[in-house]
Amino acid sequence: MANSVLPLQAKNFRFVDIGVNLTDPVFRGKYHGKNKHTDDFNLVLERSRVAGVKSMIITGGSLHESREALKLAKDHGFYATVGCHPTRSAEFDKFKGGPEAYLNALDDILKDNMKGRGRAVAVGECGLDYDRTHFAAPEVQKKHFRSQLSLAKKHHLPLFLHSRAAHEDFVSILREEGFGVDGGKQVGGNGGVVHSFTGRLDELVELMSMGFHIGVNGCSLKTTDNLSCAQAINLDLLMLETDAPWCSMTGAHASKAHLNTLSSSLNDLYFPPSVKLEKFVLGKVVKGRNEPCSIGGVAWVIQQLRPEVTYEELVEKVWNNTVTVFGLDDLD
Ligand SMILES: [Zn+2]
Repeated sequence: MANSVLPLQAKNFRFVDIGVNLTDPVFRGKYHGKNKHTDDFNLVLERSRVAGVKSMIITGGSLHESREALKLAKDHGFYATVGCHPTRSAEFDKFKGGPEAYLNALDDILKDNMKGRGRAVAVGECGLDYDRTHFAAPEVQKKHFRSQLSLAKKHHLPLFLHSRAAHEDFVSILREEGFGVDGGKQVGGNGGVVHSFTGRLDELVELMSMGFHIGVNGCSLKTTDNLSCAQAINLDLLMLETDAPWCSMTGAHASKAHLNTLSSSLNDLYFPPSVKLEKFVLGKVVKGRNEPCSIGGVAWVIQQLRPEVTYEELVEKVWNNTVTVFGLDDLD
């Protein structure tokens, strides 16, 4: 059929992957402590550039990982978060010098990395994860989630938040610490994003009413309930991420039907040919190891649910939300 519309070209679309675990050894070919293939880190970055990913915010999930994330961010001109994930929050208590020393160490890293490319742009990943309390009991998680909120206030940084099966406690702590209104602006905070949102509609509405942005990735688009939530996100509060190497979209997810409408030119960029880990070929994506190049696929699925905006409008809206919240004014 004749089509007057030019084919969509990826160079028109620009993204910041706000949640990417680039410190994960799988991007160096190492899985569960074993070397399985050549380090293809630079090819992962190359594929992301080709797919329109202009920058990334590398997730820091612990004190050690935050340092690594900042190092990578500096090496590649990206950004990073500094904080401790709820499943690692037992590290606070085990730390030499105790929890206060751990928090001080996070604080010191923030102080030293507030300027220039490679800087820290958020406190996190922090929050609560009651699906994985075997790593840290809820009481431990709550204590150290609360203490990290003080860093956001002190440095006026946005939060990069994680909440799993813990919504009530999660919002209670945020409210008690002054983050219940306008993302905590009155107490020195600077908003933030609840990343990898997989919760219910009423939870979504509450988080948005508190002034938080919502981060969507492949895990946020698995079920039809997930899709209904994605449809309800205020576009002014939407952000995009991959959570790579996690949260790949698969053929079994509700998102699949919407990905089927992606043009082949964009599909080639967002989902380049992949092979199974055992059949690794340098230059190909490893099946199941998600990469930042797939972020456009996440955007596509959301746009298919939101006919009120074009794909380009949605992508630009998210770009502006991201640049504003994280203060990425040096991105062009
Ligand atoms: Zn998370």
